[in-house]
Amino acid sequence: MATALPKLALVEQISQRVMRVLGCNPGGLRLQGTNTYLVGTGKRKILIDTGDPEIPEYTQLLKTVLDSHNASVQEIIITHFHVDHVGGVPSVCRDVLKTTSLPVSKMHRVEGPEFDLRDIKYSFVDHHHTFKTDGVTLRAHFNPGHSDDHMILYMEEENAVFSGDTILGGRTTTVENLSQYMKSLQDILDLKPAVIYPAHGAVINDPASTINYYITHRQEREKQITQFLTDRKTEAHAVMTIVKHIYVDVPEDLHKSAAKNVHQHLLKLKDEDIVECFDNKWKLREAS
Ligand SMILES: [Zn+2]
Repeated sequence: MATALPKLALVEQISQRVMRVLGCNPGGLRLQGTNTYLVGTGKRKILIDTGDPEIPEYTQLLKTVLDSHNASVQEIIITHFHVDHVGGVPSVCRDVLKTTSLPVSKMHRVEGPEFDLRDIKYSFVDHHHTFKTDGVTLRAHFNPGHSDDHMILYMEEENAVFSGDTILGGRTTTVENLSQYMKSLQDILDLKPAVIYPAHGAVINDPASTINYYITHRQEREKQITQFLTDRKTEAHAVMTIVKHIYVDVPEDLHKSAAKNVHQHLLKLKDEDIVECFDNKWKLREAS
């Protein structure tokens, strides 16, 4: 079993440039809740992510923090379309910022709809778009895998990465496309950040070892799957057959989510021409 998550303060100044305001939406995959970040050394801050829709504790908290620093928000940046990141935009704009016209930036989805912000418009940005406020330069990096539109932000002044949901503090994350995800982990590793500010969980002060753990964790799973198929290469196998063999120590009620995971690995291995699929059954690709 996973160990208990450490308690995080509702509001914390975590560096000279970064203040973390908890989304007040703890639970499940949200861990201690969504981390929303107020960034900048001056009075005009950039807000990164907004938590879930209509959380009065959060909007009140954000208002109190801004008021007590005599600060305002110049723009909002959203890491990806999931509701616990973008969902709070309407209530934050209506109840805290009292405007619907400030920029709300994110990257475009490849497939599927954006979260509906009603009278608020998105301003869509591309890879390497730069955001600036007092004392801070943030460079957008397209970082898909957790979702098809996922963006991370590299802060030059602190050599820091706002990792969204690609990397979480204290847990592994869910993945929509494993091939992209593994590449995105490598992209963060290549930035050699000194610190990671994740969208859920505590600050990560040892980015390289955390990312390497994420990478090895997935690689080990993949090795087990390839080994299973190698040992039984004359037949094709259903995903659940593979799950039951590999996840022997995992309770049966978690096998469904394990199956999603194994399926992602198989799709990645198919992309790499290592396995093939017939009628929802998988086997090693025969050497041509
Ligand atoms: Zn999230």
